Amino acid sequence: MTFPKKVCTPYRKLFFLSLIWTVLFILMIPAASSVAGAVSSPVHTEVQVNLLNLRTGPSTAYTRIQGLPSGTPLEVLFQEKEWLLVRLKDGTTGWVDGKYTGFTSNLADKLPPVIGEKATVTVNLLNVRLGAGLNYQRINQLHLHDTVTVYFHESDWVLVRLADGTSGWVYREYTSFTPQAAGTEPQIPDINATGENPPSAPHQLTSTEEEEQYPYKVIVTSTPLPLREQPQLNSTPLGELTKGMILTVLDKTKEDWLQVELPDGRQGWVAGWCTQKLEEDKNSEEKGADPFIRLAAVTADILRVRSGPGLDYTQTGRVFCGNHLLIQQEQNGWYYVRTPTGQYGWVSSEYTTPINIVSRGNSSAKAYDVTQSQNITVVIDPGHGGQDKGATGVSGLKEKNINLTVSLYLEELLRARGFNVVMTRKNDTSLTLAERAALAEKAKADLFISIHANASLNNKYASGTETYYYQNKKTSPQSLYLASLIQQEVSAALKLPSLGVKKAPFHVLRETSMPAALVELAFLSNAVDETILASDHCLKLATEALYRAVLRYYNLNQ
Ligand SMILES: [Zn+2]
Repeated sequence: MTFPKKVCTPYRKLFFLSLIWTVLFILMIPAASSVAGAVSSPVHTEVQVNLLNLRTGPSTAYTRIQGLPSGTPLEVLFQEKEWLLVRLKDGTTGWVDGKYTGFTSNLADKLPPVIGEKATVTVNLLNVRLGAGLNYQRINQLHLHDTVTVYFHESDWVLVRLADGTSGWVYREYTSFTPQAAGTEPQIPDINATGENPPSAPHQLTSTEEEEQYPYKVIVTSTPLPLREQPQLNSTPLGELTKGMILTVLDKTKEDWLQVELPDGRQGWVAGWCTQKLEEDKNSEEKGADPFIRLAAVTADILRVRSGPGLDYTQTGRVFCGNHLLIQQEQNGWYYVRTPTGQYGWVSSEYTTPINIVSRGNSSAKAYDVTQSQNITVVIDPGHGGQDKGATGVSGLKEKNINLTVSLYLEELLRARGFNVVMTRKNDTSLTLAERAALAEKAKADLFISIHANASLNNKYASGTETYYYQNKKTSPQSLYLASLIQQEVSAALKLPSLGVKKAPFHVLRETSMPAALVELAFLSNAVDETILASDHCLKLATEALYRAVLRYYNLNQ
């Protein structure tokens, strides 16, 4: 990227500025309660039935906004047949059936004149709100080139009539409408929940420049937020991001466009003013922990996955008791997680238990007597290889490669300890099961360890470690002992569920005469397990666990 590293950070200031202006604006409402252009004093009436519905348009077919009790004061802005466009004291604008109010036809002449001009939308997305301010509810969204009729102009907002007959307020600057007498009022960019409407001039709102430390994380604050190919509004959208998503910022332009990476690895540009920077996550810096792997186990029967860090966010999925989640971020008692199915979302941390995958230290660095292990031959069998890829992970991780990586690490540890090690394969080659067993027999091996990764076709939640042995050969008791040690050590190291020691007549277990075990480290079909298997740190932890199992089997000092 050629963008300068020293860039403005306008959005925080912008946020506070907009907050200040919003507050000021709310304070201004009573004083400016009659619309611009009105020569006569505002026309007031009141509700004369027990409950009158305020609607988004002039008929009962339009959405009901709220019910107004008898006596509610109304400022009448416009009349269309029986229906009145009114404004409440709190600034909310909507339509009521005029015959249930005190409005009479002789008041009609006193209504303020409407502007009646057509205007088009000049930004990709424009929010339509119930009142002239960011704090009012959004009732609709307009798109680039949509046409509206401007009824009234007030400060930076215009009350418009949409093509479908509904009325609402939009931020004036994002339309082609130009008021007759342009005021000098402050601008309130609609940044809180608008799609990508850019602040008019972000670089003018910041006076200092600060150095950004990349990468850092931001949370998406508006929905939907397009992920774009280039840092500009008219660039091709690559996808849609939702509120609550966490993005890693790689770079930033002066115009506050962020180059981001999604949790799934996709990259693109997003409007920085639709995001908020997250504080540094301190918990991931525990000694020995992989900074990218923090787990939480679900302790509730069913835990809702939500679109944001709070109960008011929509539910986007579910996870179940015992499921392991990958913690991506933490905020006010909520975790942003990746679930076993690969989904990203927020869960309440209250219903989870944190699990830290921590190294037990490098035991191979200690001093020990190697003479005890010099006459022991261990065959390490990396499952699959070559044409036979084995299982494939949800993100494409190949089992054959994981098996080989762990096997090569284990070879190194065992050799350093004085063991004689035979590998069935040392690179990405194909060999049959019979060839593997024959190799072990020929080497007169003392121990046979086959290394695999699991997959479940029909259960994405399947997770954890399991170890197999063959129960019907001379060395079955020793095989069971070896399998038990491996199972204990590996599941403790990876902190995934222990699925236990199991019997199976796998060829390499059955056709080898020495004690033999086959370990399935974790499930590639589970997004959380796969992330662990994709971490070199975790593969090393698994290797150390296998190494400890061998030492324990021979009763050697660790
Ligand atoms: Zn396998």
